[in-house]
Amino acid sequence: MVHFYYHPDRFQVYQVKSLLDAAGVPCFIKNEFIQGAMGEVSPLDCEPELWLNDAEWQIKATQVLESFKAEQQALSQGDKNDWACRSCGEINEYQFALCWQCQSVRV
Ligand SMILES: [Zn+2]
Repeated sequence: MVHFYYHPDRFQVYQVKSLLDAAGVPCFIKNEFIQGAMGEVSPLDCEPELWLNDAEWQIKATQVLESFKAEQQALSQGDKNDWACRSCGEINEYQFALCWQCQSVRV
């Protein structure tokens, strides 16, 4: 068995799990049943982890995960794209909220 994936947002973990299921990759989630024990176990121990039944599935599973990540990135691309200033047309990097050229606010 190999530990394959972990994410602080458990829904992500379940989403990857169902993608792997759909792709025919044998996998399971560890820690999903100790949710009720929160408080007795350290919170980190309660986070679900995605495991593969066998290391031979790792390559296929990684491909599935990569395309999942690419999809997610495409979804959140709104704030990860460089943007063009509406006032002066300057291209600014996504992390800036103001145009570096004319100080206009990003719209
Ligand atoms: Zn500008």
